Amino acid sequence: MKKYVDVILPLPLPKSFTYSLPDEYAEDVKIGCRVVVPFGRKKFYTAIVLNVHYCAPTGYEVKDISALLDASPILLPVQFKFWEWIADYYLCTQGDVYKAALPSGLKLESETIVEYNPDFEADAPLPEREQRILDLLAVDAQQSVTKLEKDSGIKNILTAIKSLLDKEAIFVKEELKRTYKPKTEARVRLAGTVDEKQLHILFDILSRAPKQLALLMKYVEYSGILGTGTPKEVSKKELLQRANVAPSVLNGLVDKKIFEIYYHEIGRLNKQEKEVVELNALNEFQQRAHDEIVQSFQEKNVCLLHGVTSSGKTEVYIHLIEEMIRQGKQVLYLLPEIALTTQITERLQRVFGARLGIYHSKFPDAERVEIWRKQLGENGYDIILGVRSSVFLPFRNLGLVIVDEEHENTYKQQDPAPRYHARSAAIVLAAMYGAKTLLGTATPSIESWQNAGEGKYGFVQLKERYKEIQLPEIIPVDIKELHRKKRMVGQFSPLLIQYMKEALEQEEQVILFQNRRGFAPMVECRTCGWVPKCKNCDVSLTYHKGINQLTCHYCGYTYQLPKSCPACEGTELVNRGFGTEKIEDDIKILFPEAAVARMDLDTTRTRSAYEKIIADFEQGKTDILIGTQMVSKGLDFDHVSIVGILNADTMLNYPDFRSYERAFQLMAQVAGRAGRKNKRGRVVLQTKSIEHPIIHQVIANDYEDMVGGQLAERQMFHYPPYYRLVYVYLKNHNEALLDQMAVVMADKLRAVFGNRVLGPDKPPVARIQTLFIKKIVVKIEQNAPMGRARELLLRIQREMIEDERYKSLIVYYDVDPM
Ligand code: ADP
Ligand code: ZN
Ligand code: ZN
Repeated sequence: MKKYVDVILPLPLPKSFTYSLPDEYAEDVKIGCRVVVPFGRKKFYTAIVLNVHYCAPTGYEVKDISALLDASPILLPVQFKFWEWIADYYLCTQGDVYKAALPSGLKLESETIVEYNPDFEADAPLPEREQRILDLLAVDAQQSVTKLEKDSGIKNILTAIKSLLDKEAIFVKEELKRTYKPKTEARVRLAGTVDEKQLHILFDILSRAPKQLALLMKYVEYSGILGTGTPKEVSKKELLQRANVAPSVLNGLVDKKIFEIYYHEIGRLNKQEKEVVELNALNEFQQRAHDEIVQSFQEKNVCLLHGVTSSGKTEVYIHLIEEMIRQGKQVLYLLPEIALTTQITERLQRVFGARLGIYHSKFPDAERVEIWRKQLGENGYDIILGVRSSVFLPFRNLGLVIVDEEHENTYKQQDPAPRYHARSAAIVLAAMYGAKTLLGTATPSIESWQNAGEGKYGFVQLKERYKEIQLPEIIPVDIKELHRKKRMVGQFSPLLIQYMKEALEQEEQVILFQNRRGFAPMVECRTCGWVPKCKNCDVSLTYHKGINQLTCHYCGYTYQLPKSCPACEGTELVNRGFGTEKIEDDIKILFPEAAVARMDLDTTRTRSAYEKIIADFEQGKTDILIGTQMVSKGLDFDHVSIVGILNADTMLNYPDFRSYERAFQLMAQVAGRAGRKNKRGRVVLQTKSIEHPIIHQVIANDYEDMVGGQLAERQMFHYPPYYRLVYVYLKNHNEALLDQMAVVMADKLRAVFGNRVLGPDKPPVARIQTLFIKKIVVKIEQNAPMGRARELLLRIQREMIEDERYKSLIVYYDVDPM
């Protein structure tokens, strides 16, 4: 009997497709294997087998699959369930999920660009077909699969391509290229040979530079240079930590030609054999938190750990991970993209060595494919440290998922579909494995806080910083007043400048924080700082320059731009927003001696650029670091004594119902970078809204007060966590037609959902790639059955598209938008 397979194609198709199996594959094909299938005219895709059966489809001519790519499945049964959940919950197709889930190397298609690996050497002669492909690539190193197929005349070329990929003779082209550089470690040694007598002379010379003297003595002790054995090699970082001095002290000794710095190659991440060290013992508070988490997992699947910055949450995670591994279970440790640094990697690697795998979107695709394959087998990594997309990796025996910095909105994928939230996805994934989820943060998301408050999640607090160092002192500065008195120097208050000066004199470091979202088009009164707000939603209005109007992009309401400020009658209403670049320029003029670095989207396009900025700052090569929210993410610096928040108002007035929550989180996180080890740090918080409740809550570090206020507002204005939001986006090339369709669809939605529907409204970016966009908001009560709501939404979408006039309408959804 003829066999058939239903497959998932990497396309946004509403259902699976059926193909017939040629006899040669009939025996070997399994659910979860990849097959190459023809689709459309002359196009080939890698599809995934969802089902094998004997039911011939009717109504269309069934095509044969062209090739079977795998002898064993590359997806595990749980993953199918997980994909289905994502597609269902986030209102997208399994094809969308497939595209997001698999690394490129596993989903070849006609348009895939492959490139030649110049370092490839074959162990044995290659099959003729493969050699022919390589010959073509040798002439032109990057080509699409379609072109290779045409030029080589090879039928079913994807099988040959796959074989070459497996041999690493070719790669799938990376969009973001990481220039390979071996990792090096800076080490310190005495310049020239020095005997004991000379050392004592040096001690005398340095008696007037006590910090340098202390450092030299620490070196002598640590390296064992006066002992009988071979002296130990001394890493710069470790020496500075042990001696507890600023890098400039060491630089002083280098200048005096007493020390010299050299570099030692320590190999690529994860491939090094590092000695695995003992776990740090937990202190009393950490131990208690640990025990409470374990306890809560007895009853609940999810636990929220609310621990202040530097309380040692990571140490608690490490203990939990170690216990999981001892039980033979795997752990997934999620971090937001920008927080995944070498700092955390090294900390985990020190303890778990080669049992740790890292899954990062900026890693080469070949590495991601390798991790995927490894996870399929019995000898997968015990721990995966990864970003959002690592929820899609296969796990044999997942026991625990840690979502660190769980409040981060970068856990939500914006574009393209699936627009999933990795925190929610992780909780669902864990439940499918019978595993637990730990959410950790110093500033919980209001959603998680609410879930913990209602008893859905366990809840554990860690209130003491490690070694009981005080939280930084936060000093508010009223820049409205200072602007009026013309006492501001650019963006800087005299107090901030004074503190920065003092810090630099004492060889301490400074972080200046400027919110990236300050660029949102908003209007502000130059005199009093008034910002127009929507009367229905209590969010700042967005300024549309073209039409010279203000709109609320939550409810769609539009306002005329007033001629003068209703608060102070000032007439200077300005478009605001200033960037990190301008700040950098100003700082260079104010502090010409200081080494300044900037960390924002522009300066961190590649992973190595990002890490270099951090490493330079860690090693004291940079005195002042200016940055966007990136500087607030889980970084642990030892010599930062001053943090400057340049303008809290851009965060507070951002047009979003989450802006207060986020402003609090950002300020609390960035403040946490000040004064970690030696002494209490200081934060200068510049704002025009000195009386704003959020400012008071940040100063008092009163998270609970902030949540209390926010929950009340969210309830009143029907926002999460009381209501679930679904944004319905409509797109079309024809603006007039789109306007009409949007009205019709909103009416249909209102007929079903009543006043839970808002809009249609023009989103801030109302045209993308020649497509016009409209947005309709649906607010659904948290306890309403979501499955039913989804059915209704999809039904209305179908009704629309089945109407001949509207068939060109494109509809997509953003469920739980951030
Ligand atoms: P958090 O994740 O809560 O911000 P970390 O785990 O990064 O805190 O801890 C802050 C610093 O204190 C780190 O440098 C860490 O190595 C150190 N630390 C915390 N707890 C311990 C411990 N129990 N033993 C040794 N060092 C610790
Ligand atoms: Zn509004
Ligand atoms: Zn005013």
